[in-house]
Amino acid sequence: MIGRIIKVISNDYTVLVDDKKYICKPRGVFRNQNITPLAGDIVEINEDNIITKIFDRKNKLDRPPVSNIDMAIIVMSTTKPDFSNILLDKMLTIIEYNNIKPVICISKSDLLIDDKINESIAYYRKIGYKVLFNTEIDELKEIIKDKFVILTGQTGSGKSSLLNKLDLNLNLKTDEISLALGRGKHTTRAIEFYQIDNSFVADTPGFSSLTFNNMTKEDIKNNFIEFRKYNCKYSDCMHIKEDECALKEDLNNNLILKDRYDDYVSFIKEKENENISFNTKKNR
Ligand code: ZN
Repeated sequence: MIGRIIKVISNDYTVLVDDKKYICKPRGVFRNQNITPLAGDIVEINEDNIITKIFDRKNKLDRPPVSNIDMAIIVMSTTKPDFSNILLDKMLTIIEYNNIKPVICISKSDLLIDDKINESIAYYRKIGYKVLFNTEIDELKEIIKDKFVILTGQTGSGKSSLLNKLDLNLNLKTDEISLALGRGKHTTRAIEFYQIDNSFVADTPGFSSLTFNNMTKEDIKNNFIEFRKYNCKYSDCMHIKEDECALKEDLNNNLILKDRYDDYVSFIKEKENENISFNTKKNR
């Protein structure tokens, strides 16, 4: 039978085949080969509830450990925790790099939206991102239809309340995962996709401590989506120190959000420092 892993707690994998759920274990040989099934994997299982095969993944994240994700909803609150351009830009860049479609969801919009946040929202929309408020439930349900979706964002940004708004019956269902998370130990691997109509949505704790990992400086540049259109004097222009940079010209004309450009520069610096420390270690 072929199905999809929708829940992982410790070494128990819940595989959904049509409408039936099977709690499965991975084949022993996977461990020797260092293969770990992930939530989101499309798998083959046998009559003994053993996962015998994992099909090719279209994408894979390490943290959260999930695969085959269609969409990531970044929940960003206006306050408590404060709206963070730099965190949002980091998540957008990493999500783009992994070929996942990002959607921005603004929470706690009833509390406070200052001009700066409004300016950011308008800019993200202008460059092509979908930005919705967590009150626009029907629209959110429509865009997640038939998709495997992860919810990301800072602790306290309102991910669980969004999940509960998407499905009023979900309150009870979240208990088991919360319990597993509370117990420590196997927690980082506990993950569950909740079925909401024809969509599957997972809350992903710990996504905010993201790093660029194996992404290069060029990867960072290429995943600032509005930077892709620029043809500068130098074809490998990083849009930082180079002359005759078309992007910086637009920046000076306020066509690029200054905060976002500053985030980009700090990411490139972060990457350069990382490489320096890596090389120093290597030379020892
Ligand atoms: Zn440039």
